[in-house]
Amino acid sequence: RGKRAFIAGVADDNGYGWAIAKALAAAGAEILVGTWVPALNIFETSLRRGKFDESRKLPDGSLMEIVKVYPLDAIYDCPEDVPEDVKANKRYAGSSNWTVKEVAESVKNDFGSIDILVHSLANGPEVTKPLLETSRRGYLAALSASSYSFVSLLQYFLPIMNPGGASISLTYIASERAIPGYGGGMSSAKAALESDTRVLAFEAGRKGKIRVNTISAGPLGSRAAKAIGFIEKMIEYSYVNAPLQKEMLADEVGNTAAFLVSPLASAITGSTVYVDNGLNTMGLAV
Ligand code: NAD
Repeated sequence: RGKRAFIAGVADDNGYGWAIAKALAAAGAEILVGTWVPALNIFETSLRRGKFDESRKLPDGSLMEIVKVYPLDAIYDCPEDVPEDVKANKRYAGSSNWTVKEVAESVKNDFGSIDILVHSLANGPEVTKPLLETSRRGYLAALSASSYSFVSLLQYFLPIMNPGGASISLTYIASERAIPGYGGGMSSAKAALESDTRVLAFEAGRKGKIRVNTISAGPLGSRAAKAIGFIEKMIEYSYVNAPLQKEMLADEVGNTAAFLVSPLASAITGSTVYVDNGLNTMGLAV
């Protein structure tokens, strides 16, 4: 049978999660997605109404099938963690079983196991603030949504991942070089994600023969990136300064993810892989 993938962090057809889903579907994988609870309604409605049909098209002309969409909020591990006001919130009360533990249980009940786990989500409520002006609460929220969410997903999904499987997350070079504008502790969150990639590669490798890698992706005008506010400037900066002067397509990240979770990458684990037209290698703006 083909491989089964769970992709956390798909809520429209613009971001890296969608592109990764498509690349995996094109390679024959069965696609399950986890969609942030507040974005669930509009995503499912758009899917149903055919709004994404054009971008569901795979290279062979068929349309990507999303076998199931699971509501997910990756800042909560289990129902006991959910505050009362969130429970009472209309959008949250309208769905159920969306904590990480419950989603893993639902996937297990529905499908038994998965082969591929993708983490393509981040959130930093104070991302537009410089680190020097970031509150403790904002900093910890960025880490919770953008870094610990991966630890938690792998923790709960590892027991249902088939040996030989792999996981992928998405990171950004602001973890290792100062990128003014990527604030609110998001740079710290990406540094944690990359460090955790190495430690989790060891632990998941030994425990379940699972590989763990992260893709350091170049700038893309996704919904999340537009919220940060300077994405057009970053895209322009990359175009001017990177070794490869071309637009960076989400599909290029999708294809790399498909490679990294495939047997072609069977000895790659714990790595941060750059998919950025080579921008990370430059030491001088030109
Ligand atoms: P995106 O908006 O497509 O994806 C982010 C997703 O995270 C959204 O679908 C959002 O609903 C979801 N999300 C937010 N909080 C959540 C939570 N608590 N639980 C579950 N889902 C939640 O944007 P994207 O830019 O494609 O982001 C995907 C990943 O790529 C992120 O990790 C991001 O940091 C990373 N990345 C993006 C860029 C870029 O320039 N766009 C560059 C490098 C890395």
